[in-house]
Amino acid sequence: MANENLLKGVECPRCGNDEQFTIAATVWLDLTDDGTVPSEEPGRGDHEWDHDSVMECPKCNYISRYGAFLVNSPHGHVRSKAT
Ligand SMILES: [Zn+2]
Repeated sequence: MANENLLKGVECPRCGNDEQFTIAATVWLDLTDDGTVPSEEPGRGDHEWDHDSVMECPKCNYISRYGAFLVNSPHGHVRSKAT
C-alpha cells in the first residue's frame, strides 16, 4: 500500500523498501552540566530533517542523504511534530 503521509514518495533506491527508515534528525535539547533532556520550550518540541539528513534503510542497510530516497516528491523539506 502506498504511503500517504510522512513517507509519501520515499523509497529505498536499492531494495524498494518504503515501510520504515532510520534518520539522523535535528532535535532541540536542554543542555546542562548533568546531561541533556528534550526541550519543552514552545516551538522546540519538533524534530526535523531535510534533504541532507543521513538516512538508513533497515532492510538492506543502504545509507545516503534523505534526498536520495525521494521518488518524484515536490517537497523540499519535511517536518514532524514530536509526540
Ligand atoms: Zn533498502
